[in-house]
Amino acid sequence: MNKVNLYALDREQLRDLLVKMGEKPFRARQVRDWMYGQRVDKLAAMRNLPDATIDKLAEVAELGELQLAAQQISRDGTIKRVYQLCDGQLIESVLMPYADGRMTACISSQAGCAMGCVFCATGQMGFSRNLTATEIFEQAMVFARELAARGERLSNVVFMGMGEPFHNYEASLAAVRMLMQRLGIGARHITISTVGLAPQIRRFADEGLQVKLAVSLHRSDDAQRSQLLPVNRRWDIAALLDACRYYCARRNRRISFEWAAIAGENDTADEARRLGRLLQGMNCHVNIIPLNPTGGYTGLSADSRNIEAFQATLRSFGLGSTVRVRRGIDIAAGCGQLKTALLLPQARASSTIPAMPNEAISQP
Ligand code: SAH
Ligand code: SF4
Repeated sequence: MNKVNLYALDREQLRDLLVKMGEKPFRARQVRDWMYGQRVDKLAAMRNLPDATIDKLAEVAELGELQLAAQQISRDGTIKRVYQLCDGQLIESVLMPYADGRMTACISSQAGCAMGCVFCATGQMGFSRNLTATEIFEQAMVFARELAARGERLSNVVFMGMGEPFHNYEASLAAVRMLMQRLGIGARHITISTVGLAPQIRRFADEGLQVKLAVSLHRSDDAQRSQLLPVNRRWDIAALLDACRYYCARRNRRISFEWAAIAGENDTADEARRLGRLLQGMNCHVNIIPLNPTGGYTGLSADSRNIEAFQATLRSFGLGSTVRVRRGIDIAAGCGQLKTALLLPQARASSTIPAMPNEAISQP
């Protein structure tokens, strides 16, 4: 018999489970406190429960269902993981520690991705399935648990792992609410990154949440953006920016635009000026991420001199930008890269995962 994942149960469902086992309803509050307050990683650690209760619970339930399939730890402290799900699907999560004490989890919302962005390792592997809200939440929960064991807290979560969160809207939003309610992570410390599904951006603006929104723009011309991000054929730049303006007005919040800087493609002076004209006057910020080279795409990362010139042009349009720090430079920490490495025959044959030359994960 499959065991129940306790993280999949809400308050009432947990209480029902315990009552069905012959326990008093107040045990549910105790169990939840151990799960989300103390953040223990095993039932046996729930010390104010009678041993018999723990044994009974352990027969039918388990604390989480993600199976660790591979892990790499970078010299800068970034931890990259591949988890196996119940049906064998593989997903990635990353934990990034920052010098100022922030601990940011980067989590996946889908196994693979249907959006087909040509430079993205996840896009290159295609779509397998949506994750459940619990599968999304549990990735952050596992990091929160490990941090709690050493007296630290998970402070931020970004939906920048595998998949398009707005293509799995309901589950992603349910996971956001779990992060807020169960782990006490404030909406302002959660970022959803989208490739630009305009209707969902509007829907998200109407949710009344103060969660941050990042939009992967990457090009300022429709024909070129469509080549890089096929979704642009469905919602072009004008439709996308209309939705973004709606979000800024409705939420009274700044929006971030992601810009994967690709040498000779989108790092030119012309491109900077066109982007400047597009975004001028908008309440926004541009996050420049030097491209992480991937096996299925020949583009290379823009160099820092071009990026500086690009930023200067944006400044002349009154637009702020930040180059995001490269994290886990020595491990395969780019979106979809470790899973790709894991699936390579030579990676399967050896017990270690081959290192990737580059990675860039943006911070919130
Ligand atoms: N699907 C969402 C969130 C996951 S991807 C989205 O596309 O926004 C998170 C970010 O990583 C996106 O901005 C995406 O464009 C970027 N990204 C993907 N592959 C990359 C690569 N090889 N180099 C740099 N950035 C990349
Ligand atoms: Fe999907 Fe985002 Fe990768 Fe595009 S960049 S393929 S939307 S995960």
